[in-house]
Amino acid sequence: MRTIEFLILHCTAGSQAWTARELQAFFMRPVVEGGRGWSRGGYHWLVEADGRAVRLYSDALVTNGTHPYAGLGIKVSNSNTVHICYTGGVGALMQPVDNRTVAQRTGLAKLVRDYVAAYPNLRVLGHNQVREKACPAYWVPDFCREIGIAGRRVWTGNPFRFPVPVAVPHTPDAAL
Ligand SMILES: [Zn+2]
Repeated sequence: MRTIEFLILHCTAGSQAWTARELQAFFMRPVVEGGRGWSRGGYHWLVEADGRAVRLYSDALVTNGTHPYAGLGIKVSNSNTVHICYTGGVGALMQPVDNRTVAQRTGLAKLVRDYVAAYPNLRVLGHNQVREKACPAYWVPDFCREIGIAGRRVWTGNPFRFPVPVAVPHTPDAAL
């Protein structure tokens, strides 16, 4: 079993109507057809607009959620991370928008609490804390505080100075 040290929260940067199946199809579709051309998707979980959390991969598997980051006392890579995503995160002009539904916030809160309980050394953070991008279009340490998770369980580093300019690419990225 791999060692899981981090829980990174993401958005799809796409339609809130996306289902888990559509998200996975986007990741697997060849690049020339507008997809990512991956053999494995980016996230272990997707929280759909109605709040339903869909398990996409077992925690034992490494997914393509982020590029490696090392600094400010942490060393993050896909190999030591579980990735959780919600559908949405962009407005009509693809600008970053925190458009999580109430149900999504509830669904995310339950997942995050479950992971914090299951992994005693796990730390929670947002993708925008380890990569210069808007994803997940909100500040994860604030969300964690709202749901009663704080202290050493939340990484508060902000090396890319969130909120970043809208011009920064907002789409999901690959590890490779
Ligand atoms: Zn992300």
